[in-house]
Amino acid sequence: MHEVGLMQNALEIAFRAAGEKGANRVTALGLSIGSLSGVVPDAMRFSFDAMTPGTIAEGAELRIEEIPATCWCGQCSSLFETDDILTLCPCCGTPSADVRDGRDMRITFVEVSDDGG
Ligand SMILES: [Zn+2]
Repeated sequence: MHEVGLMQNALEIAFRAAGEKGANRVTALGLSIGSLSGVVPDAMRFSFDAMTPGTIAEGAELRIEEIPATCWCGQCSSLFETDDILTLCPCCGTPSADVRDGRDMRITFVEVSDDGG
């Protein structure tokens, strides 16, 4: 399950963000996961729950936004949603592999707080 490694990286970024802001808690972590990223949102949630206890992100909220992949058709200049890396444009039927979005996972936000403890 490569989500474990991805979550580890995401948490490291969150911890660093907290450190930079002088905060001692991570209260929420936002991720956007593209439908073609190969990342399983449920596996990310599972990893988050498994890794945060005992850290400054314990009890934090994980907010996952699932992003539909979009593909660009240069033939008719349209952007359409896709579930595959190669799709036919729904407007003109031209095959397109020009995926513009939905191929990766991003951290959208890290919320931190300083509870004084
Ligand atoms: Zn087209």
